[in-house]
Amino acid sequence: MKHNFGAGPCILPAIVLDQAADAVRDFNGIGLSILEISHRTPEFEAVINETQGLVRELLNVPADYSILFLQGGASTQFSMLAMNFLHQGKKAAYLDTGFFSLKAIKEALFFGEVDIVASSKDKNYYYVPVGYQIPATAAYFHYCSNNTIEGTEMFSHPASSVPVICDMSSDIFSRPIQVADFDLIYAGAQKNMGPAGMTLVVVKNNLLEKITAEVASMSDYRIFRDNNSMFNTPPVFSIYVAMLNLRWLKEKGGVTQQEVENIAKSDLLYTEIDRNTLFYGLADPKDRSRMNVTFKMHDPGLEAEFLDFASQKGIVGIKGYPSAGGFRVSLYNALPISSVEVLVKCMQDFEAKNL
Ligand code: PMP
Repeated sequence: MKHNFGAGPCILPAIVLDQAADAVRDFNGIGLSILEISHRTPEFEAVINETQGLVRELLNVPADYSILFLQGGASTQFSMLAMNFLHQGKKAAYLDTGFFSLKAIKEALFFGEVDIVASSKDKNYYYVPVGYQIPATAAYFHYCSNNTIEGTEMFSHPASSVPVICDMSSDIFSRPIQVADFDLIYAGAQKNMGPAGMTLVVVKNNLLEKITAEVASMSDYRIFRDNNSMFNTPPVFSIYVAMLNLRWLKEKGGVTQQEVENIAKSDLLYTEIDRNTLFYGLADPKDRSRMNVTFKMHDPGLEAEFLDFASQKGIVGIKGYPSAGGFRVSLYNALPISSVEVLVKCMQDFEAKNL
């Protein structure tokens, strides 16, 4: 048995994989695979509508927001959102909290000016800045709620009089959120939503009414809203597996129950990191992510040995991002606490071995 701590694409519930495998062979008993039916069939329309309904229910999305399923990953949103909302003569406000927020800034710069309201670059992004102002003249304020590589997470943002746009790729569906605090939320699916290939966008309808920019059809949110995310062929299989995964989440009690589990899992691991004499956490304790836990060893010479030791116990996916080094342990929704217990025991055994 493997304990999959990978950062994404990541662990999915076993039952979801079984159901997806069945549908690849025969979808709903119709004698065809989910991979070989048209997206224009009533069967697939039922899938897309149920998936939207589950997103709306699980995140408590208000009626005046649209739910879109796009392609191109969260990275495409970095430019698409700027194309739609960074209107001429305006600056967009960005919070610079890590690798992905910086990528979002770089893409926005193709379309207009950016005002970096605060940055945590001075400490390798291992904390989240506070005490900054969001200019009232900005086109929008953009931030990333969970910094997947650095292991920091934001549970709130400062008051903003301008539209708030948030990259929630790595913590969506991990806890309840107030959708009304945001004007646009986007997330690549491949962590807590489903397999790679689909990007979720939840957008306030009146934000779309304010678009004055001329944008090509495939980058125009309004076109995807008006065509129920089927302006072109949608990522049929990704949407289908996301539907199965969101059914699983609903069945177990939704994001409220999931948050309880995510707190328990991350508390267990951070407690061990703080206790164990060999390891130390990278993120500022007040900003620690529940999804991605980053840490290193006081003796970097032992890191390769620990990776090997852990892999013998079935632990996979814990190596840190190449530029960051050390370890990154991801605790997404489908990861059971029993896997965290195995990792904690492994850290304790390794400590005992190296005393
Ligand atoms: N934002 C965040 C927070 C991410 O973790 C990632 C990568 N998973 C991205 C953006 C980029 O997503 P994608 O690879 O889907 O373009």
